Amino acid sequence: MLKVFNPATGQLIQELVADTTASIHQKWDSAKLAQLDWASSPLEDRIEVFRKFRQYLVNHKERLASLLTQEVGKPISQSINEINGTVSRLDYFTEASQRLLAITTVWQDGPQGIKEQISREPLGVIANISAWNYPYFVGSNVFVPALITGNAVLYKPSELASLTGLAIAEGLYKSGLPKDVFPTILGDGRIGSELLQLKLDGVFFTGSQATGKKIAEAASKQLTKVQLELGGKDPAYASEHADVKTTAESLADGAFYNCGQSCCSVERIYVHEKIYDEFLIHFIKTVESFKIGDPNLSETYLGPLARVDQIAILENQIRDAVSKGAQILYGGRKIGALGGNFFEPTVLVHVNHSMLIMRNESFGPVIGIQKVSSDHEALQLMNDTEYGLTAAVYTTQEDQAMTLMSALNVGTVYWNCCDRVSPRLPWSGRKNSGLGLTLGDEGILTFTHTKAWHLKKSK
Ligand code: NAD
Repeated sequence: MLKVFNPATGQLIQELVADTTASIHQKWDSAKLAQLDWASSPLEDRIEVFRKFRQYLVNHKERLASLLTQEVGKPISQSINEINGTVSRLDYFTEASQRLLAITTVWQDGPQGIKEQISREPLGVIANISAWNYPYFVGSNVFVPALITGNAVLYKPSELASLTGLAIAEGLYKSGLPKDVFPTILGDGRIGSELLQLKLDGVFFTGSQATGKKIAEAASKQLTKVQLELGGKDPAYASEHADVKTTAESLADGAFYNCGQSCCSVERIYVHEKIYDEFLIHFIKTVESFKIGDPNLSETYLGPLARVDQIAILENQIRDAVSKGAQILYGGRKIGALGGNFFEPTVLVHVNHSMLIMRNESFGPVIGIQKVSSDHEALQLMNDTEYGLTAAVYTTQEDQAMTLMSALNVGTVYWNCCDRVSPRLPWSGRKNSGLGLTLGDEGILTFTHTKAWHLKKSK
């Protein structure tokens, strides 16, 4: 059985029947058959399912957001934001798929009347092993384009977001998606690894670096396509030319939104010495304004951590930093009085790269702020990481921003903004932040094989 707990109270919400080796095989068998029919249905019919699903999300937004909040502790306003954002992503996917999946003629009148064309075909039956922190976002980035392009998807939501995973599947079935092309696989990491024993046509994973490496190893035995969207230790730089107040407010939000549990949360901040003291005043003032508590309340900004075991990781990072000379400027402890997995928003200064807090993903409401004396020093520190997901530069000087952003070894750069994902832009991580990409046009085509056509009419 799979027990689902409310991280805000520690109470059991529901017990679910987890999948077994036998049930996974049965779902895979059915998916293989169903995929053939699904792929041969008209593209317009497949897209129509997702137009209906979009409306379903709009109609059921409050109920679905509330379920997400119960299950992962995300404040209700942020759960609503996630569903609204998914609606926008659906608009992009449905519009762009029509454009991208048309056959393209790349040469019309070659020698001896030859014509050359490119078409796109689905990969087949793929697995989507997903994370809990944004189940709608990270799930839909994979299963929506995968299904539109004609694949079947064995969808394994995180064990911490299984109810939401089931709710997503129900919404899709009610929108006309055949059940067998989108079976849910429930369970923890053991069930995830069982899934990888099947003969799959692709594995699309969102989760931690440690699990991603296991997935890549297991999938390599089949030479199947593997895509990994992993963690980050995303840096931001407030330069001497930054607008100090708005920069501090923006970065506090980037560090603490969703309780710091975003792959692209700001996890390290570098501040030029000329604005450092003023920056800290505005930053702490913003953190003080965050409402912590019951995630069901609309005014709550910081809810509990979804994973109880993350608390020990944060405590260890803070202990390590303090033992090496860091100072806790704000917070620093678990909030026992609230029950559940609550942790104070925590700000550390006098930090450096010998400390875990500046090297390992925290994935919680903890931020280290380091003083720097030049752009060059900031750049070196920002790139001094095993990750490469996003990085942000704050300055009023466009030339300075462009120079710095060009030199950052990451998949996404931000100027005067952070912690932002667009359906129109590819989302990719470098180094230990992942392999492959989702979103943007390439994030649709990644679920297809290309077929090259050399066509010559006989005389
Ligand atoms: P996780 O790695 O613990 O789990 C992710 C999924 O993998 C879950 O469904 C889990 O059941 C499954 N799993 C665990 N062990 C497995 C195994 N051996 N074989 C197959 N499946 C297995 O990650 P999480 O805690 O759910 O998510 C948090 C992590 O995800 C963070 O590191 C975060 O940065 C990252 N993330 C990245 C992105 C991105 O777009 N790059 C987006 C969201 C989250």
